[in-house]
Parts: sequence; C-alpha cells; structure tokens
Amino acid sequence: MSQTEIILKAEGIHKSFGSVEVLKGISLEARKHDVISILGSSGSGKSTFLRCLNFLETPTSGKVTVHGNEILVRNGKPQNVRHIEEIRARLGMVFQQFNLWTHRTVLENVMEGPVQVKRQPKAEARDKAEALLKRVGLEERMGMYPSQLSGGQQQRVAIARALAMEPDAILFDEPTSALDPELVGEVLKVMQDLAAEGRTMIVVTHEMGFAREVSSEVVFLHEGRIAEQGPPEEMFTNPRTEVFERFIAKVM
Ligand code: ADP
Ligand code: MG
Repeated sequence: MSQTEIILKAEGIHKSFGSVEVLKGISLEARKHDVISILGSSGSGKSTFLRCLNFLETPTSGKVTVHGNEILVRNGKPQNVRHIEEIRARLGMVFQQFNLWTHRTVLENVMEGPVQVKRQPKAEARDKAEALLKRVGLEERMGMYPSQLSGGQQQRVAIARALAMEPDAILFDEPTSALDPELVGEVLKVMQDLAAEGRTMIVVTHEMGFAREVSSEVVFLHEGRIAEQGPPEEMFTNPRTEVFERFIAKVM
C-alpha cells in the first residue's frame, strides 16, 4: 500500500430507492494520482455510487471523506451537511450528457464556476479558462455555443470546466457513452493526458482499453457490491470471479 495522500474515502455506502437497495455497502479509497475505473453492467449501481460521493444523491448510510471533510450518513440523514459544498468544490464531475449551459458560450461555461463559486476576478478566470480550452484543443471555439459543437468538443469543454475549479479529483460518469464512435478517441486522449499528469480520477466507463491501459485500479460492481477489484492487468488476464469473467467475455 502506497503512502500517498488519501484524496477520497468512501466507507460502507448503502443506497436504497424505496425498498430497493441499489448499493449494498461499498468502500473505496482514492489516493493522489490514482485512476480508478469502475466497471459493471447497466443497473449495477455505478452512477448512483459516483453521485453519492459528491452528494448529488444522499446515501442511505455510510461515510464519505474528501480532504478531511467527513460526512457520516445514518438513516438517510447526513451529519455535517456544511461539508457538502466543500466536497462538491473539491470533486469535479463530468457527465455522459455533458450538462453544459446551453445559453452560455464555451468560454463562459468554463469561467462560470471560478467566478460564481470561487469569487475569482473575471480577468483571472478568463485567462485560466482560455489556457484550459487551449489544452483540450478548443482555442478556436471559445466564442461558440455548445449547440455549435460536436459531442466530442462539448465533452472536452465539460472537462475544461471541471479542471477550472482545480478539483482534488475528477469523477467521470461514462464520459464517452453518448458520443458517436469516431469522437470517442479525442475525449479519451484528453483523459489519458490528465492521467499522465497525475490527476486523481474515478471513471465509470465501458471503454475496456482505457480501463486496462490507463487506470491504476479497476473496480467491478455487480448488483450493488464490489465483486472484484485490483490492478487492471491482473484482473483482465486472471479474473477471480465468474461474474467478472462473464462481463469481460461480453464486452471485449
Ligand atoms: P448504472 O449506472 O450502473 O447503470 P445506476 O446507478 O444508474 O446504475 O442504477 C442502479 C439501479 O438504481 C437501477 O436499478 C436504477 O433503476 C436504480 N435507480 C437509479 N436512480 C434511481 C432513482 N432516482 N430512483 C429510483 N431508482 C433509481
Ligand atoms: Mg450509469
């Protein structure tokens, strides 16, 4: 076990919708520079788990700690709710459907968080946004509106927007699933670059190439539990559980 700083810790996360228990006690630790891929069939609880980490969903019970900000949840009631804002600011999130502000330009989308949430001066936020958009290859598109961009470009804006908040970690929920196949590569390339520069990332994905080659750890969810977890190469060459073996046979 490395001694690197723990960025995020989830302990015993349970989540029920009505009488249906969707997450049945998930614990996960992300250390600085970790790239954790979360795999699993549709409905296994991947999105719900990711959303519980930043309290877009409130877990039914469990504990989430991000950079020392701890939130314990019992019976659906979070203690220390004042930590939620801090946790959200520290965890960037990139969604399958981009979720950009449609009536704002690309540049405004990236500036919005730093200006509104972090109270950064506009000029400073603009300089930073421009630099980030350049990094994701969109310096020519800064004045455009999201609807004028391809899905791959929109997702790169969403990534730049997440980076603008200088998060401790970025959560990705199937960032390439809504894209036409020919646009998947440009987004994966940006994510690969982020991984290479040491960003801490938790990525729900169906891209087995990314999971296998880029991530430092793979977590396989099955029916709301972690069924298998480990270094990618080991897991893919030597699956220990039948459910993961069946999963990779189906998706590879
Ligand atoms: P995945 O992302 O792995 O496909 P989800 O986390 O989206 O899975 O969903 C896990 C289960 O929880 C599914 O059965 C889904 O129908 C259910 N679920 C998710 N969100 C809600 C909700 N808001 N209300 C009721 N059921 C939900
Ligand atoms: Mg999902």
